[in-house]
Amino acid sequence: LPGLYIVATPIGNLGDITLRAIEVLGAVDVVACEDTRVTGKLLNHLGLKKRMLRYDDHSDEGSRERLLATMRDGPVALVSDAGTPLISDPGYRLVRAARDEGIAVTSLPGPNAAVLGMTLSGLPNDRFLFGGFLPAKSKAREDVLRELEAVPATLIFYETGPRLLDSLDAIEIVLPGREVAVARELTKRFEECRSGAPAEIAAHFRTHPPKGEIVLLVAPPPDAPPPDAADVDALLREALKTDK
Ligand code: SAM
Repeated sequence: LPGLYIVATPIGNLGDITLRAIEVLGAVDVVACEDTRVTGKLLNHLGLKKRMLRYDDHSDEGSRERLLATMRDGPVALVSDAGTPLISDPGYRLVRAARDEGIAVTSLPGPNAAVLGMTLSGLPNDRFLFGGFLPAKSKAREDVLRELEAVPATLIFYETGPRLLDSLDAIEIVLPGREVAVARELTKRFEECRSGAPAEIAAHFRTHPPKGEIVLLVAPPPDAPPPDAADVDALLREALKTDK
């Protein structure tokens, strides 16, 4: 059927492609992707030959229009280099444009590093906030952490090996006392997840420079302290007040 199909792809382990992803990739006329070489390898692995078009949210209006025209006539898949498209990856402008034009949009569930890191970390998951990548510059990074200080949720960030130690230091300074978890190389051969105090985790990675892809998680702030006894008295007096 014509329309846009958002297709999640593996984040390391090719076994994680879904049956539905294979079916849809096999059926589409065009695959819109970030990098034709990366997606070409996946399609090749699946034994598929497809027309690929490079697309990202900075692509000009013309290439977006061409894709929209194609999906009015037949199915188009949107994939990213790895994982779920649009999650720290391009696509939202294309989805928005398709929806605005009444084109059917379907999204296929599949691998996502943030959710995988969350499930492995052992941190509370009743609420979580996905913060994308922390800024590279230290002032901007600390500003973002400060902005999120009071958020009562586990924080999830995408991180790179070279920046991990700086981020752990920043967390130690801006969010003292919070546990962190580092989930690395998820679904791949050297998958690992370590959690503990930022200084402890930093000490490990100082002697084992972190390679590969990383999700960094930060525990929520400790529970709000219980109200003072005096405040409770005042609240009770107020609540029990009658007109008599
Ligand atoms: N769209 C992808 C997803 O659904 O997870 C994320 C794309 S983002 C450009 C790439 C970042 O995701 C990496 O820098 C890393 O922080 C995280 N990531 C991707 N694959 C990962 C993996 N196998 N293990 C740990 N983190 C991963």
